[in-house]
Amino acid sequence: MTINKSVLIMSPHIDDAFLSLGGTIHLLSSKGVDIKVVNVFSKTNFSIKPSMTDIQRIRRNEEMLNANLVRNISSNNNIDVEFLGIPDAVMRGHKVNDVLDYPRGNTHMEEYSLKTELVSIIKNLIKTNKKSTIFIPLGIGNHIDHVILRDAFFESMPTGYNKQVILGYEEQPYSFIRSTTVEIPKEKEVLFTIDPKVKAAIVRNYSSQIHEVEKFIKSLEEYSERFSDRPCERCIRISTTNK
Ligand SMILES: [Zn+2]
Repeated sequence: MTINKSVLIMSPHIDDAFLSLGGTIHLLSSKGVDIKVVNVFSKTNFSIKPSMTDIQRIRRNEEMLNANLVRNISSNNNIDVEFLGIPDAVMRGHKVNDVLDYPRGNTHMEEYSLKTELVSIIKNLIKTNKKSTIFIPLGIGNHIDHVILRDAFFESMPTGYNKQVILGYEEQPYSFIRSTTVEIPKEKEVLFTIDPKVKAAIVRNYSSQIHEVEKFIKSLEEYSERFSDRPCERCIRISTTNK
């Protein structure tokens, strides 16, 4: 399929874009595509290592390490990473256990104003990135922030919206830890062949978020073998007139 000269990747948290699509970001960047990653719920103090302090700074640094890694190996400086600074679910008062239980979690009813705020931000992003292919999260792990972002995106699309390529990406590690494989109809499936060494290097840069990095990398590789002989990342075509 044809990807535009620029792409916009909507990332719920700092790390979702690169953990899910890092190989694709590298692939497209190497072809000269301009990349913009927008980290939405980037105000956070979440780490798997409770002893860590200044998590906010550490997480932004991890993200920028990967932006720089891809810039360097693809000889393309046009990778832009933004942090919108909206508080993540835990900072908004959701319990960690509830976060993955949306919409059953009992606090979601209070968040209509957050969704309205997101719709306004996303409408603006769509307007200012008219020529970009847009990647949005599918909400596969049912994480409240992923689902709100996905739903807000669909609410933001103008009626009759069909001029832009929109791809939903499956989030990692949520997809590979599921007991059953998410089904994507073949005619809507889009596989990006990636360089597994680059993807592994990207994953290693998120040590504040991953307990067993090498196991994570192996699981990613095994997961992609379910769909392809070559390492890949998987998306679903949501809307396009650009075949
Ligand atoms: Zn996330």
